[in-house]
Amino acid sequence: MSPSRMILKRGWQRLCPQCGKTPLYKGWNKLQPHCQVCGLRYIRDPIDFGAFLYFSTALITGLYVMAFLIVGFPSSWWARTVIILTALLLMWVTLPWRKGLAVALDYWNDWRANPESELKLQDD
Ligand SMILES: [Zn+2]
Repeated sequence: MSPSRMILKRGWQRLCPQCGKTPLYKGWNKLQPHCQVCGLRYIRDPIDFGAFLYFSTALITGLYVMAFLIVGFPSSWWARTVIILTALLLMWVTLPWRKGLAVALDYWNDWRANPESELKLQDD
C-alpha cells in the first residue's frame, strides 16, 4: 500500500495516521489530544482541521438540499422539520469519519510538502 493511501485509510478508519494502532477518539466523537502509542498530536493545525470540517459539512448539506430540490421540497411544516432534523442527524453521524479524514488529510498534506514533517509513518 502506498504511504499516501495508508495515511488516508487510517484516517477513515479513525486510527492514528502515524502508527495506525490507536483510535483517534475516546468514546464516539471526543478527539484525544495525542496518540497513546507513538505520541503524535492529532490536531496539527486547528485552522486546516476546522476548514476541512466546515467544507465537508457544506458539501453534505449541499448534496442533501440538491436531493430535495430534485424530488421536490414538501410544503408541510412537519415534513420540513423532519428534513432539518435528519440533516442535523446526518452531520452528527458522519462527524467521526470526517474528523478522522481531517486529521489524516492535514498530516498527509504536510507530509507531502515538508521533508521535516512531524509524521514519521510506521507500517502495520
Ligand atoms: Zn500513533
